[in-house]
Amino acid sequence: LYPMRLQRFLARAGVASRRGAERLMTAGRVRVNGEVVTELGSKVDPASDVVSVDGIECHILERPCYLMLYKPAGYVTTMSDPQGRHTVAELVPTDRFPGLFPVGRLDMDTTGLLLFTTNGNVGQELLHPSRHVEKHYVALVSGTPSAHDLERLRRGVMLEDGPASPAGATLLAKDDPLYSVVAPHGAGRTGGGEPNAVVGLTIHEGRKHQVKKMMQAVGHKVLRLHRDAFGPLSLTGVDEGSWRELTPQEVAAIE
Ligand code: URA
Repeated sequence: LYPMRLQRFLARAGVASRRGAERLMTAGRVRVNGEVVTELGSKVDPASDVVSVDGIECHILERPCYLMLYKPAGYVTTMSDPQGRHTVAELVPTDRFPGLFPVGRLDMDTTGLLLFTTNGNVGQELLHPSRHVEKHYVALVSGTPSAHDLERLRRGVMLEDGPASPAGATLLAKDDPLYSVVAPHGAGRTGGGEPNAVVGLTIHEGRKHQVKKMMQAVGHKVLRLHRDAFGPLSLTGVDEGSWRELTPQEVAAIE
């Protein structure tokens, strides 16, 4: 192991989240080789330094696993389903990585990037609203949202459970590589014959059915939904229904 920031060491040791670890340090509760360390930039070498919190020695647990799944439609985001439906657990290597769980949720019919980890602290932190993790979605919607509709999404629309935060919202052109992910045969027409459109949306929250509700609030039904990015992560190099472990760079970007 190599020198690492003390707060990262403490998170990896399962003591607290990284932010929680920073608070412990600032409070003077963390010692390295017997000396109180409050400096947030301090580094430790897990192989040689002795770290303690409130006098109790801490050790790094086995390296946590992080992987991304390209979720296909038709799978529920849960590790077990009492109703016996297909779950995302069938698509990830739970034998190799016990304790793996999905960070957040995609609806059964939604496709795209779903992050999994065995690191409960990081999982919790990434979902916390204060962390403002950006999620990018592409949605095939009924009709064509007007400039006014898009502006309303950007300002933040009202939902049943309170206002949605301002979102990024753009219409995607047919030659955008993401367009064909939700409209492989073109956008087509629904209902009254109005042509459908593909919208790119960036949101920071993760409320239930959030994208569908936001689009509904401006009068457009989501016909297909796909998440192509979660924070700094994107689905490069993963086929639908497959997973890959995050690279060390990707892990450093989210931990
Ligand atoms: N918003 C939705 O409506 N559904 C999802 O699966 C994700 C975001």
